[in-house]
Amino acid sequence: MNNYLLLLICIVGLCLGSFYNVVIIRSLSGESIVFPASKCPKCGHKLYPWHNIPVLSYIFLRGKCYFCKEKISLQYPVVELVTMLMFVFAYLKFGLSTDTLFAIILLSGLIIMTTTDIKEKLVDCNIAIILALCGLLFCYLRTGSIIAAAVGLITGAVIIELIALTGCILPAKTRVMGEADTYVAAALGSYFGMGGFSLILLYSIAAALIFTLPVYIYNQYKINNKITCILFILFTLAVVVFKAAFQSWLAFSFVIITGILLAISVLKNIKSTDNRHYLPFVPALAAGTLFFMFF
Ligand SMILES: [Zn+2]
Repeated sequence: MNNYLLLLICIVGLCLGSFYNVVIIRSLSGESIVFPASKCPKCGHKLYPWHNIPVLSYIFLRGKCYFCKEKISLQYPVVELVTMLMFVFAYLKFGLSTDTLFAIILLSGLIIMTTTDIKEKLVDCNIAIILALCGLLFCYLRTGSIIAAAVGLITGAVIIELIALTGCILPAKTRVMGEADTYVAAALGSYFGMGGFSLILLYSIAAALIFTLPVYIYNQYKINNKITCILFILFTLAVVVFKAAFQSWLAFSFVIITGILLAISVLKNIKSTDNRHYLPFVPALAAGTLFFMFF
């Protein structure tokens, strides 16, 4: 019985993943989600039903359009498989319960917003608003009141908005994060409350650092900013040395001095708008949420 249920969840996950692909593509192009039949984005040819089977069609067609042989974006099978895996994880974690249903709604929204954020740095805030409302409803069903979710919602929005606005007083003179990040943070706060959200924020910042620092250092290297690169390496070394062996004042001052020099060097760089590093933060928030939910 359990195996059949698991299989059913896999199939539902794959099919919904396929639908999310449509939502992603059409929310980026501004087309209606319901009306036009599926067609190749390159040659515009209407697709046959067997071209729409999640993952399998991609494999049978060897990643190419049946008509014009244009490459099909890897986004399609990836989103389908990720959606399936997320649904399975949610079921294994929470069983057959309303928790799983609400987890699946949240994960679906995060998958769509993360993909559009990575692809075009665009996020449909309406999805985040729907998630925030679901969070309130979920809280009401569990506790009979929406206070915890409402407090979490406000906390999430205020914290991320404050972080985003720090960019305005820094030499960059602009928000460091998009408005959508605030909406997504509000939705996560609504789902997990103030305490849960603070943990998610911590994990998200860690995830952002792990994924964006190598890219950032590489960009600095490419624009010939050797000093920032060297400072980054020195700072990392200083922290490692401080942690591993010499927990002395000498090692501590080494960490502080390289840290300050590094901060000054980074701030000097974001002064010029052409190499402003506007980080998509929604993927980091999604990663933090997954870590919080499943570990
Ligand atoms: Zn085509």
